[in-house]
Amino acid sequence: MKHASKILRVDLTNNKIHFEEVNESVVECYIGGSGLGSKILWEETTVNTNPFSPENPLMFMVGPVTGMVPQGSHYVVCSLSPANDAWGEAAGGGTWAIELSRTGLSGIVVKGKAEKPVYLYVSEERAEIKDASHLWGKDSYQVNEILEHETEEGARIACIGQAGENLMRIAGIMNEGRFARMAARCGMGAVMGSKNLKAIVVKGGKLKPKAVDESALKAKNREVTSFFKKIRSGPGGGIAKIDEVIYSYHKIGNMPIRNHSRFKADSFVEQFRASYEEGEKYYCGLCPIGCLESRMCKGSREAVLEALLPMGSNCLVGDFPTIQKAYELCNRYGIDTISAGDAIAFGMEVFEEGLITKKDTGGVELIWGSGDAVIEMVKQIGENRDFGKILGQGVKRAAELIGGKAPQYAMHSKGLEIPLHDARTHNSMMIGYATSNRGASHIESHSFVLERKPIGTYGADGSLLGYPREKAQRLGFEGKAELVRRVQDLGNMFNSLVVCEFGFFLYGIELPTYPFWLKCITGWDMDLPRFMLTGERIFNLKRLINLRKGLSAKDDTLPRRILTRRPDAPLEIENVPDSLEELIQEYYVARGWSKDGKPTTEKLRQLGLNQLGY
Ligand code: SF4
Repeated sequence: MKHASKILRVDLTNNKIHFEEVNESVVECYIGGSGLGSKILWEETTVNTNPFSPENPLMFMVGPVTGMVPQGSHYVVCSLSPANDAWGEAAGGGTWAIELSRTGLSGIVVKGKAEKPVYLYVSEERAEIKDASHLWGKDSYQVNEILEHETEEGARIACIGQAGENLMRIAGIMNEGRFARMAARCGMGAVMGSKNLKAIVVKGGKLKPKAVDESALKAKNREVTSFFKKIRSGPGGGIAKIDEVIYSYHKIGNMPIRNHSRFKADSFVEQFRASYEEGEKYYCGLCPIGCLESRMCKGSREAVLEALLPMGSNCLVGDFPTIQKAYELCNRYGIDTISAGDAIAFGMEVFEEGLITKKDTGGVELIWGSGDAVIEMVKQIGENRDFGKILGQGVKRAAELIGGKAPQYAMHSKGLEIPLHDARTHNSMMIGYATSNRGASHIESHSFVLERKPIGTYGADGSLLGYPREKAQRLGFEGKAELVRRVQDLGNMFNSLVVCEFGFFLYGIELPTYPFWLKCITGWDMDLPRFMLTGERIFNLKRLINLRKGLSAKDDTLPRRILTRRPDAPLEIENVPDSLEELIQEYYVARGWSKDGKPTTEKLRQLGLNQLGY
């Protein structure tokens, strides 16, 4: 056998643990990470499984390239999502995943519910369920510190903060304390909280995963590392500066402003640039480059773009230290910053509209531009009190609870809040956000990167995806349905391998490198078409999970606001479709699906999914 997978199975209800070998034929079809996660979720849940029920599996998955290649440092958490009651997935970086891969495992599948708070300890030799009463109520930095002292040196910790304990549907899972890497999206932290599972400690041993062809792997890794080193020796260490990125995003309207309703926010940009202090670089394990999203600021992680803009421009707060404080609080409580920013901006708008008052907000003047209000709302969400009880459910549910006109201010797709990249300035994202399996996710479709010119001399080339650089354009819809389909399939491979997507999308590692890595490690000789077909299979399986849970073509949509020009936007810079429905129909054709968005029998046969009994 060339490459099987070993999974740790944990039953918290019955306090039982066992190991399971996954057959190579299954692994070759679903690879690992979220691909294997989707296969397990399909088989082990039904239409009636609730995200918070003990039967819902919570899976911490790595893949064949984890710990083996540059940037092979990520893990993926998969489960039924409390955001949409369907497929949920979130990825985190750092070094936790590499440590897990050195225990010899490809994943940990947790089911059941512990009677009292517990944590899981996993090493090369053993796995144990341990008491976590002393950790309950603690934030993620505190948990990390306590468990680092309680366990061996070098152990790595993933945990939830108070938001996950309180079943906030926008709670994520944190790893590595103040370095604050987060599997943020889809409320995976709340699923962990529903199981009374506070943390998972992993401690690898000498058991470094083995490749079938070690020498070819080493040669390719050397080549990729020197490619990154060349970029690093270029201007700015190969990394754009955050304040310059924000300045350039603002020029083209690629930024959420005032709950996604405006194009311009000059005062935000000025205030931000005046108050921004650049931090120091941080590298995930095995990453030779670092990225603009990975910096440290005075001893804890610097706010990433998907925090700076959702909690900054979207709420009209430009003061960097204030946003940084809100970001650190999100990391301590374990809250997804995209969802938190959108939820707070939503709160500001319904407050302005008079749908709620200070009586509802715990006395907070929830007004645009108030940094104090942003910080207080993050605390309320983390602590499940006052208006945070509502906002922590995500904007879709919050709007339903408030009622009246509130749903028109809720910016989400399939219950997941919309990230910073604006679909009106990167038109492929109209289709990407609307059709992503987990809801509005920029990670499931990174197509916006291919629509613009690469940064400097590096960056992804979409030629092998049928979308060459010279054709790249942000505005317009021609060919975008096909582009999104291919990028989604590729994204599903990245999250199954599991590897950081920035290597390809941000820096331009050549696409065939990925199937080559897979071949060196597993022995599977996948050419690029077969590699992409595998991604398509995984994407379609997640779609089947969603269809079985009752989602349908009507959920492949976006809020009216996102489909409408912003009143202050120059006409030539942004663009909206005449009909999103027509674009979605074009996308269904590109996918080989029926008009009602279902994979056809022929498509299922082509993907080898016809045996699933859908
Ligand atoms: S590019 Fe950034 S997120 Fe990706 S592995 Fe490197 S440091 Fe981590």
